[in-house]
Amino acid sequence: MNTSHAPEFRQLGDHVALDLINTVEQSSAGPVDRWQSDADVAGWLALAGFAAAQGPAPAGLLESARGLRETVRELVAQRKAHAPLALSALNRALAAGGSHLELAPADDGSLVMSRRYPSQTAAQWLLPVAEAAADLLAHGDFGLVRKCESDACSLWFYDRTRSHKRRWCSMALCGNRHKVAAFRQREAADASAKAK
Ligand SMILES: [Zn+2]
Repeated sequence: MNTSHAPEFRQLGDHVALDLINTVEQSSAGPVDRWQSDADVAGWLALAGFAAAQGPAPAGLLESARGLRETVRELVAQRKAHAPLALSALNRALAAGGSHLELAPADDGSLVMSRRYPSQTAAQWLLPVAEAAADLLAHGDFGLVRKCESDACSLWFYDRTRSHKRRWCSMALCGNRHKVAAFRQREAADASAKAK
């Protein structure tokens, strides 16, 4: 992977299935897809901590990953809206199968159990992502799965704050923009009140 072209991935979702969706972002110029190549997807998988993302990326990884991403995006929106879930595409992704558990001794004498994923095909590379999405849909608290409150922003997050009052994908991005806009609005209101 040519790191000079590595896209900047934001991991703001606090759940890997939401970070998956967030690899497409709205901008003033339209949607920006941070995946433009098989290598981009491989880089994202490695960053997300998926063990299968090693070795050369299989052909068709970008296309498969984009397909899975849109499947998950629709399911999250359906789940959020209490709408019927169209599960067949995600179930097909889950059927790539073939993972197994493996035990290995750790330095301190304990045993570490990890799941090994096959890595021949694109579907196999994406299997842990599909499993993470299935886990979110089955076990996630969708009261805490929310889209950023900014209308201009398309990012989703899992609110793991203690107060459960998270509103923004990130304070540095949308939170501050909102604060500045609210401040300007107050200033303008004050100015017009004084002018009267
Ligand atoms: Zn945002």
